[in-house]
Amino acid sequence: MNKKKKVGIFTFTCDEGCSIYLIEIFNKKLIAWLEKMELAYFLSIKDRRDAKSFDIVLVEGAITTERDLKEIEEVRKMTKVLIGMGNCAITGMPTCQRNNFNENQTEAIKGELDKFNFLPKCQAIKEVVKLDDEIPGCPIGEEAFVKVFEKYL
Ligand code: SF4
Repeated sequence: MNKKKKVGIFTFTCDEGCSIYLIEIFNKKLIAWLEKMELAYFLSIKDRRDAKSFDIVLVEGAITTERDLKEIEEVRKMTKVLIGMGNCAITGMPTCQRNNFNENQTEAIKGELDKFNFLPKCQAIKEVVKLDDEIPGCPIGEEAFVKVFEKYL
C-alpha cells in the first residue's frame, strides 16, 4: 500500500481568503482525499506542527516581514512539492499594493512599517522561493484547485 502523502498549508501575510475558500473545498472533498493524504499542518484546523518534512505544501499570502522570509525558506527546504495558492503567492497582488504607493502614501505608512518590522518591499512568495506549481485566483477557484492538487496526490 502506498504511504499517505503528508500535506501542509501555510499562510503568510494576506487576508487568508484562499485558505477560507479551501475549507469550503475540503467540506466536499477532504474525506475522499484522506484515503491518500494526511493533513499534517493547517493553522485554520490544526495548530500543531509536528512534521519535519512534507510531500505537498500549499502556501498563500505574500512575504512582508523577516519572519515570513525565514519561514518560507524553511518550508521550501522541507517540502517536495510547493504550490502557490492564490494571486498573492504568485504575483504579490493584492497584498503587495504598498509597493506601488507614491511618496506621500509611503511616508504616511512608514511608522506602521517600522513598528511591525515590515520589509521595505513586499514580495510574492514566487519571488523568494521556487514554486513547483501554481493555483491562481483571488480567491482560488475550486476547479483549478482540484486539477492542480490531485496531480500530486
Ligand atoms: S489571493 Fe486574494 S483571496 Fe487569496 S489570500 Fe490573496 S487577497 Fe486573499
